[in-house]
Amino acid sequence: MSLNNLELPAIPNLIGGELRKPLSGRWLDSFNPATGQVHARIPASDQRDAEAAIQAAAQAAPNWAKVSPEERSALLNKIADRLEARLDDLAMAESRDNGKPLSLARSVDIPRAIQNFRFFAAGLLHVSSESHARPGFLNYTLRQPVGVGVCISPWNLPLYLLSWKMAPALAAGNTVVAKPSEVTPLSAWLLSEITLEAGLPPGVLNLIHGTGPDLGPTLCTEREVSAISFTGSTRTGAEIASLAAPRFKKLSLEMGGKNAAIVFADCNYDQMLETILRSGFSNQGQICLCTSRILVERPLYERLRDDLVKRVKALRVGDPLEADTDQGAVVSKAHQEKILSYFDLALSEGGKILCGGETVTLSGRCADGWFVAPTVLENLGPDTRCNREEIFGPVVSLQPFDTEEEALRLANASDYGLAASVWTSHLAKAQRFGRELNAGIIWINCWMARDLRTPFGGLGDSGVGREGGWEAFRFWTETKNICISD
Ligand code: NAD
Repeated sequence: MSLNNLELPAIPNLIGGELRKPLSGRWLDSFNPATGQVHARIPASDQRDAEAAIQAAAQAAPNWAKVSPEERSALLNKIADRLEARLDDLAMAESRDNGKPLSLARSVDIPRAIQNFRFFAAGLLHVSSESHARPGFLNYTLRQPVGVGVCISPWNLPLYLLSWKMAPALAAGNTVVAKPSEVTPLSAWLLSEITLEAGLPPGVLNLIHGTGPDLGPTLCTEREVSAISFTGSTRTGAEIASLAAPRFKKLSLEMGGKNAAIVFADCNYDQMLETILRSGFSNQGQICLCTSRILVERPLYERLRDDLVKRVKALRVGDPLEADTDQGAVVSKAHQEKILSYFDLALSEGGKILCGGETVTLSGRCADGWFVAPTVLENLGPDTRCNREEIFGPVVSLQPFDTEEEALRLANASDYGLAASVWTSHLAKAQRFGRELNAGIIWINCWMARDLRTPFGGLGDSGVGREGGWEAFRFWTETKNICISD
């Protein structure tokens, strides 16, 4: 089915190899944030649909675990081939659902989803496990699939993050029940069709649409579910943990962030400015890794502030489908209101809005869309709510510092610990910050340079566990030790 042929698609669930309507017969509206209009309907799935999806996954699990690595790898590559063939449709789906510039979906979201499948298709051919020999005994370690895995993903990078979870789960020999965000269902629907075309056996991947509160209690507690991989807000992560922990499910939680960039006066200024702009405002600031706090060594503060404000003012907020748009819409009306509420808060906390701080109204087809002007704040201390809470929009806050100790204290003044970047040409200083910063991912003189083999995840309120490379294979397998006597 092509997106362009359908004015208001009614998206089905994928359960047991069949595209099915929700058992409740109820549907939810899905909005295009750039126009403010309903553009699709998704199943309001409930406990019964979730149970059916889990049953289908449980039935398919024993046979899928026995499929040879070569065959599994070939199937994942086939999915990647078909994603590649439908890149245009998928990028359009992402842009329509999320409000992000089409150019970003074409160059980042969909290529990365393709890469996720290819990366784990290759990885599963190289899996090995340990043996431990001693006189009289040989121990060897088996890493077996966990069985049924649940993958729950957010709206900001819909297919990119969903595939980042399901590709390693499938590669490790598990069957999957995936729940994409109800806010951005389109690309997951296209993926349902693609996996059927690719010949993935029925029940190996099940995709159900609906709200977290309707589906979460079943997905996170059913006996047949062994592991849950979640990406989303810290609040939801805590709810999922409270549902799943008493049932002893394996849990991977990737949650919010309040990432700092620490800029020293000895950095490569042009490279830093270019990257800081991208790290603050890519995808309208709605990437968990986006920089939201920029800490600047005092001698550079005014220069960086003035240059940054000039560059931010020049970002073009516009129709996501236009090639020269830098900033599209934010994902929903509710999210727009949440971001706007921080502008009043910033003023009441004594902050200054250097640019932005308001909605942007466009004309034509985007007249009713949800746009926010990219915003730079200053004069807010480390304990203000604006500098502690995740805004998850096109907003950065500047703070000066005088010493390394102060920079570290400001950077670590957060309950989150996802990512940080350090800008300096002083190697020893960079290494010190690498050791001392409370974050799971630290970039020195770069940002979002991703190598899929590296551990990905955060500390504190940002997460539990790591994704990526062998970390993902370990999560999606159960370890068993077998000891044989001579
Ligand atoms: P969210 O927590 O509202 O929703 C995420 C997913 O959880 C959705 O599919 C939602 O339906 C589901 N959900 C909601 N309540 C549930 C429940 N009770 N049980 C089970 N599932 C439930 O998050 P969001 O608003 O979609 O995404 C934005 C958040 O995601 C931000 O906080 C951002 O930092 C975070 N994020 C983190 C990473 C990371 O890698 N650490 C990456 C991207 C986004």
